Amino acid sequence: MTKTYGLWIDGSWRIPARGHYPVINPATEQPVGHAPDAAPAEVAAAVEAARTALPLWSRTDPRERAAVLDRAAALLTGRAPELVPLLQAETGATLRLTSRMQLPTAVDRFRRYARGAVEPATVPLAPHPVGATPLAPGGLIGAAAVRRPIGVVACITSYNFPLVNLVGKAAPALAMGNTVVAKPAPQDPLACLELGPILKEAGLPDGAFNVVTGSGPDAGAALVAHPDTDLVSFTGSTAVGKRIAETAGRSMKRTLMELGGKGAAIVLRDADDTVLRSAVAGVGSVWSFHSGQICTAPTRVLVHRSLYERVVTDLRDYAESLTIGDPVDNSTIVGPLISAAQRDRVEGHVAGAREQGARIATGGHRPDLKPGFYAPPTLITDADPAMTVAQEEIFGPVVVALPFDDEDEAVRIANGTPYGLYDYVFSADTGRAWALAARLRSGNVGINTVQRHPETPFGGFKDSGVGRDGGSFGLHAYSELQSVVWTS
Ligand code: NAD
Repeated sequence: MTKTYGLWIDGSWRIPARGHYPVINPATEQPVGHAPDAAPAEVAAAVEAARTALPLWSRTDPRERAAVLDRAAALLTGRAPELVPLLQAETGATLRLTSRMQLPTAVDRFRRYARGAVEPATVPLAPHPVGATPLAPGGLIGAAAVRRPIGVVACITSYNFPLVNLVGKAAPALAMGNTVVAKPAPQDPLACLELGPILKEAGLPDGAFNVVTGSGPDAGAALVAHPDTDLVSFTGSTAVGKRIAETAGRSMKRTLMELGGKGAAIVLRDADDTVLRSAVAGVGSVWSFHSGQICTAPTRVLVHRSLYERVVTDLRDYAESLTIGDPVDNSTIVGPLISAAQRDRVEGHVAGAREQGARIATGGHRPDLKPGFYAPPTLITDADPAMTVAQEEIFGPVVVALPFDDEDEAVRIANGTPYGLYDYVFSADTGRAWALAARLRSGNVGINTVQRHPETPFGGFKDSGVGRDGGSFGLHAYSELQSVVWTS
């Protein structure tokens, strides 16, 4: 029996006027549940509920806000036995990934921003002696900068890590006293809808957190265009991000943009066996970690020519060792892509690379697995950095290997796409890697690791986004500084 969800507006379920659409399990191609297809009037009702809840929630003692977020973390943990299978089924991610990361990371984010709610919101400034001016008498002028909530925050998220993406926005937004209208991705919104009653049970006032969903772009577009939305926090593709920024700019709405990426992993000439092993496993995460549907994935591996053949051979062996198949089977490493459309897109990129003269070193053919939207780990060599496959984000299990002769060329290739989200340097000399990081136009640089640090500011240069979240930077993203000045 699949569940049919309502819209979560003002603390209760609302039956959608336009009806529902099925959310499809990417491995079985069967419905997991039915999500509401929100009409613009229902999106407006969610925004109005959030606006009405704002005065109460923004004036709630930060310790009480922290307690609500902590209780949400505990409730989410308690619901793991039903939410992990739901998340797994709607995302197609492996069970291992879902149980170890999709849900626990969302819980961690609630806990982190429970602590965030009570971080000091006031930045004291040194008193400043000012002489008398025609404006006012002189004196020792005191001041402080205070973080204030922005207002109603629209959280529009991508598919891939639905709960993690949404909690990464909603938790810091609520911690700072904002209210939220969430609009998760059409492909995997069901666990996000479950967050509504969880936050209510945790003690959040009605209207402070709402969830609207839709099968197409309408619900998100209505949310962005609504005059009472103050900040649009968006995670998704660069193309949609640009469209949202245009609309938001017309009414001076704030935006936080976490967009696409085309990460470069640069393997320097000095890489020894240990570093090379890390590089191969790190780049291999494009295949083994949610089938490459990850914005930070190192989908281009740039290798010094002296090591190129070896790295290509090691990567090919690695790719061919990975088990593709049913994501609920514990031995599976590579599960399906989110949809038939996404699989077709990935296959189109690989076919385009072949036509342009690149070589498919491994993968490239649809696996004989039915049902399910599978694409194999694919390694492309003999490509030119200007080829589409080396320029555009694919969001699938595809790596392009490119040789370079010196660091200048490596930097040129790494910086030679419109993106700048996450690059990596693999070197036996971490000082050299640190120096190289300064030349990369990228919001994040990993040295000898693809591991993330949750306290770092996360975001992109260039077309990969605007603004930063993560750790305390997330609190800054969901607040505006107000300067208060006084005589002393
Ligand atoms: P997408 O841009 O197609 O959709 C993202 C969200 O925007 C969805 O909720 C969608 O319904 C909504 N949307 C679509 N059109 C809209 C419009 N006109 N107005 C308002 N909302 C609209 O992205 P996707 O396919 O869900 O996700 C993949 C993309 O997300 C990739 O580009 C990936 O790199 C990016 N991503 C980025 C990060 C990051 O932190 N930088 C993290 C995860 C995913």
